Amino acid sequence: MSDWRLIGKGSFLCGTPLRFKLWEVDRPGGNMRIAGMLLGALCVIQSVTVSAETQPTCPKSDALGVSRIVEIEASGGPRFGAPHGDRDLLASREVVLTFDDGPMPRSTQPILAALAAQCTKATFFMIGELAAEHPEVVREVAEQGHTIGTHTWSHLNLKRLSDDKMKVQIEAAFTAVEKAAGVPIAPFFRHPYLSSSNATVAYLKSRNIAEFAIDIDSFDWRNRSAASVVRRVMSALKQRGRGIILLHDIHPSTATAVPELLVQIKARGFRVVHLRPAAPMQTITGYEPPTKDAIHSTRHVRAHVRERLRHRSGCCGRRAARA
Ligand SMILES: [Zn+2]
Repeated sequence: MSDWRLIGKGSFLCGTPLRFKLWEVDRPGGNMRIAGMLLGALCVIQSVTVSAETQPTCPKSDALGVSRIVEIEASGGPRFGAPHGDRDLLASREVVLTFDDGPMPRSTQPILAALAAQCTKATFFMIGELAAEHPEVVREVAEQGHTIGTHTWSHLNLKRLSDDKMKVQIEAAFTAVEKAAGVPIAPFFRHPYLSSSNATVAYLKSRNIAEFAIDIDSFDWRNRSAASVVRRVMSALKQRGRGIILLHDIHPSTATAVPELLVQIKARGFRVVHLRPAAPMQTITGYEPPTKDAIHSTRHVRAHVRERLRHRSGCCGRRAARA
């Protein structure tokens, strides 16, 4: 097998995740032979690694970059991140960068600049009403090749809403963010406060939307010291060895922390995985944004942030407090 090159790997969801790998080898006359190891004919493909050769060349030779791209198959609503998610999404020392609650021009834009300086990519879980207010920032995120998912229309706790209102919060966000982006977005979603219920999970599954929780909380919503945010993420990474990292692009202190965080992620030998959807979100009509939330606009989200700080219960609830 010495001439065989590993060209892809991924996982299947079969109750418990199973992995597969693909190899290629050059044959005389320029023919190429591909061999694969497939497990479980009735399983659903959940994620596939795409060759990093498809990425544009980075002008900075020692940049963090992207070590691999993982295409997420969102059919059936797979879950990622602790404690219910696919544990095989990431290998040892791999991280995924995620930013919630934006877009917010004064902090999202410097974060985009920091990511660009390191030729690396992140996933942004955006709030619908903020995307409608700052479409130019959403377009910038899309143009720079980052992945865009959503985080509800106005950051309400979906577990406390009726089914109808819960669906509006989810659908209106996807419609608004897609409209602002001007291009299709990913069928990726994160619950505000990581607060899910059987009803919300079932709805996401029925809509073929992948749900992302977190493995590592930066606690940037609680502590506005950039140094502390960097320290906390690196300390958690040292402990867990890999994971989906939660940051918030609404805080200027997070924007200050990101350049140093990226330097340390690279220096400690961690690698960034870029998540991309295998197919774009299929938005549907009939779910208009809630009008009273639209009137409150940005103030509504900021009030939630203040509430989180007051109660110290965290952006993302019990699991984040433990992370
Ligand atoms: Zn949030």
